[in-house]
Amino acid sequence: MLTINNLHATVADKPILKGLSLSINAGEIHAIMGPNGAGKSTLGYTLGGRPGYEVTGGSVEFDGQDLLALEPHERAAAGLFLGFQYPVEIPGVSNLQFLREALNAQRKGHGEEPLSGAAFIKRAKEQAGLLRFDMDMLKRPVNVGFSGGEKKRAEMVQMGILAPKLAILDETDSGLDIDALRIVGEGINAIMRKPDKAVLLITHYQRLLDYVQPDFVHVLAGGRIVKSGGPELALQLESEGYEAVAA
Ligand code: ADP
Ligand code: MG
Ligand code: MG
Repeated sequence: MLTINNLHATVADKPILKGLSLSINAGEIHAIMGPNGAGKSTLGYTLGGRPGYEVTGGSVEFDGQDLLALEPHERAAAGLFLGFQYPVEIPGVSNLQFLREALNAQRKGHGEEPLSGAAFIKRAKEQAGLLRFDMDMLKRPVNVGFSGGEKKRAEMVQMGILAPKLAILDETDSGLDIDALRIVGEGINAIMRKPDKAVLLITHYQRLLDYVQPDFVHVLAGGRIVKSGGPELALQLESEGYEAVAA
């Protein structure tokens, strides 16, 4: 589904990704762990096509397409979802408006008719229910006044509604208390653990991986993947630290 080959990227002319390679097949969940400043968020933003993140080498194929040739909205329409470490607030636009626009843009990209209002609300209710998220909160402006945990859960509701092929989730566990962590973990499993979907979880901590069990764990350091393994690698990192394991 995703093949990253020797990716190099700069932020503000500073090289951050320095030859990163990673392959993800449909049906797999991968976790990327690594020290602060390693380039984890940069990887997510670069794959999402965020302005300011410049690719200077390498290639990325997503579902048979040259991902780097697509505009950010085309990447989303192609089935890529990015969950942000710091979700943005959008005053004046309700979650429901935002999600309906996003979903219908995605459908248009596939040559499908927009979803009717009633069908959209049904879908939103189902997904909000899965994340135990109050529908009334979806009527409020995107993320405005939401706590850190609420933003992360709202983001998972977005993911459920958009039903992407590949989700890249950047520190979705940050700011979550124990109960919210479990709800979000179960939500990710319910939405994304399917034979035709894949997840790239970016996380500092092992705890989310207790709920969303990765098939592969990678260590990102110095702008490239320096070690890969199974779920046991995350446990080893937690007990021994990045320096000892990835040196
Ligand atoms: P991680 O998510 O692994 O903690 P990041 O991808 O956020 O790391 O950051 C990687 C490096 O890129 C860091 O050294 C950071 O200071 C730098 N960086 C990130 N964004 C910018 C920016 N907008 N301008 C300059 N440097 C940046
Ligand atoms: Mg960081
Ligand atoms: Mg980060």
